[in-house]
Formats: sequence, C-alpha cells, structure tokens
Amino acid sequence: MPSFQEARRIILESVSPLGAEIVPALEAVGRVLAEDVRAPFDLPRWDNSAMDGFALRAQDADRPGGLRVSGYVPAGTTPAGAVAEGTAVRVLTGAPIPPGADAVVPVEHTEEQGGTVRPLRPIGAGQNVRRRGEDIRAGEVVLAAGTVLGPAELSALASCSRLAVPVVRRARVAILSTGDELVEPGAPLAPGLIHDSNAWALAAAVRQAGGVPAALGIARDDREALRRLLREGLAADALVTSAGVSVGDRDLVREVLEELGVRQLFWKIDIKPGRPTAFALAGRTPVFSLPGNPVATLLTFDQLVRPALLRAMGHERVLRPLVPAALRDGLRRKPGRVEFVRVRLERSAGALVATSAGDQATGMLGTLLRADGIVVVPADRGTIEPGGAVEVQVLRGELERWDA
Ligand code: AMP
Ligand code: MG
Repeated sequence: MPSFQEARRIILESVSPLGAEIVPALEAVGRVLAEDVRAPFDLPRWDNSAMDGFALRAQDADRPGGLRVSGYVPAGTTPAGAVAEGTAVRVLTGAPIPPGADAVVPVEHTEEQGGTVRPLRPIGAGQNVRRRGEDIRAGEVVLAAGTVLGPAELSALASCSRLAVPVVRRARVAILSTGDELVEPGAPLAPGLIHDSNAWALAAAVRQAGGVPAALGIARDDREALRRLLREGLAADALVTSAGVSVGDRDLVREVLEELGVRQLFWKIDIKPGRPTAFALAGRTPVFSLPGNPVATLLTFDQLVRPALLRAMGHERVLRPLVPAALRDGLRRKPGRVEFVRVRLERSAGALVATSAGDQATGMLGTLLRADGIVVVPADRGTIEPGGAVEVQVLRGELERWDA
C-alpha cells in the first residue's frame, strides 16, 4: 500500500501533457500558455509623457520670463513640430514627446499666463518621460510558455495586439457514478435509493480545475453496465469513477477495469478518509477509482485527481499551498495514516486558528459545507495537543482574506 506522498508521485509521474490549441485571447484566461509570446514592437512604442504638463528642454526650465507655449499635443495625436530653445509644448499623459524636448513639467508645478509658462521647480532631463521600449523591448519574451494567463497577461497580449494564443488543451474528464442505490438528482426516491451527488460534485471540481466534465451517468453494480460505461469513459483524457471500490461483493469497478485491460498501479492508500482509492492506466489514460462516500470522493479528487489534471493541462504549481495554523482543540489519533480534517478558520492575534468543522465521519457532507479548510496531518504524527501547530489547505476565500 503506497503512502499518500508515494501515491501522488505515482499519479503525477503517470500523467502525460495534453497538446496545445489556438484560442482567442479572452478565452485563454486561466489556461497555460503553450509557447513563448514575443513583443512585436517596443512598448511604449515612442517616448511619451507620463503627466499632463509641458514638454521642454530641461536646461531651459529656469529661464527668466518663462517659456513661450508653442503648441499642444493631446494623447492620440502627434506633435506638429519640435520644441525649440525657450519654448514649451503643452502635452497630455500618453502623448508623444515632441522632438527637441527631454522632460515634462507637470501642470501643477507651473504657472501659466498669456501664452507663457513658468516652471515653479527645477527639472532634470528625462523626468516624466516614458522612454520607447523601457517597459518591453521588441522581440523580448513577454509571456513565457507555462505562464497561466490572467488579467495582467491579457493586458500584455492586447498591448502586443495578439488576438489568439496557443494554450494547453483542457482535459476532458469522464465521470461515472456507480451503485444500485443511485438515481439522478430530480428523480423520485423509492425506499433505499439516494440521489447521485458525486457526479455533480466531481463535475464542479473538474470545472474548477479548468477541465471539461463529461458525465457518463450511473452504472448499476453489474458487470455488463460497468463494462459498457467504463469503456466509453476510457475515450476521455481521464476517467473518474466513484464508489464500488471497497471490499463488498458488489464492488466491481476494479474487477471490470481489469477485464478491460486497464493496468492498476495501486489500490488503497494510507489516508483518512479515502483509503480504498485506486489508480490505473489504460494506455496513457489515467483512471481514478474514488471511494463513494461524498466527502471521501471530493477529498480524494482534490488531493490526487486535481493535481494530475493541472499537470496534464500544463500547470507547474499543482498542489494547494499549506498555511500554518494552530489546531484549537487538538486531535486524538494514532500515527499511521495521513488524515484530512475539515476545519473552520479564523484569525486570532495575527495567527490562523483551525477548529473542527464538526463530525469528521466520511458520510458527513455538512461538515465539509461548514469547512473553510482542510488540516493535513502527516502519517507519522500522533495525538495533537490543543493549540498544536498544523498545516492547512485553505478552501474558501483567497489566502489574502486571512491576512488582516
Ligand atoms: P460504496 O463504496 O459503493 O460502498 O459506497 C460508499 C457509500 O457512498 C455508500 O453509502 C453509498 O451509498 C455512497 N455513495 C456511493 N456513490 C454515491 C453517489 N454517487 N452519490 C452519493 N452517495 C454515494
Ligand atoms: Mg456501492
């Protein structure tokens, strides 16, 4: 039985990167750039004013009697002529600097009267001038392959007039629920039946990871149904099933996968909850068989499947950040398994305090609904005393939310 870390390493080493596709820049948000983007020209494209003010020769600034205002360059226009000795040209922010000028005096540092401007403070050459190419040089790599595209990157693409970019493909993830007790949400419940909640939960998790969920529906606990739907799922970039991987006599998922020629890399991991998780490869297609209890399904997805999908989709950072916290009430436990504890988080005197979000039984979805984070307890750790130091993955809100 692999440890949690070994299991994750096996999974990450097994995933193959997906190919690239060219998409419109705005549709590339959140995705990973597949090739370098170089600047087609200098940015800024010409020397321009950083202020509303007067472009002049810095050495003329303290001329007695001031400088004659000889022109006006609003943004979006070009200078009609040069700035000659003893003159200044009114400019707006972003306007090209007229030839001859080497500085801009901000309007609030001037006195203007009858066509003459007098700078009130000394000014040095280059002041308030944004130089051509000072931000990004023509030919320079503006965005390197591997960059996750966000607002700043979109700003760069627009500045470079790049309408479309090559990005790593989204993973298509087939999702299969298994179990005789399951009916679709919305369907009436006969005694003994429950609604399939894992399919929706997994679809949401896949989408949040940037993948495209493809629902296969529900397979009964019978070989024929499983065979047909599992085979269909193997055509996707990854297949995620829930339930039917324990030791019950109706737990047929692994058996049928094996009949389909899928190579199992492990079954059962030293984690709590989520122990009966299995991982297999069908050719190069990863197959994740997750346990059926909804909390275990989501936790094992988050800890094991999400990193794999992110890696396949080109992400460098695939694991959630761990933030130090104090576990308020501690935790009685024996060493042996990595344990995931659903907690609420709050700041107390600048430190993060984690408090159990409720009953940690794997059937208790309500505890997950109340949780802000997951404390990850290392396998070799025994009982944690009240206030003991732990590491937590923050689920809700940006990390900054806690940086009060
Ligand atoms: P199993 O691994 O098949 O024994 O399932 C473990 C538990 O998870 C049982 O209580 C199942 O009813 C429940 N379960 C399995 N699949 C789902 C599902 N898709 N939605 C909600 N609960 C499920
Ligand atoms: Mg079952």
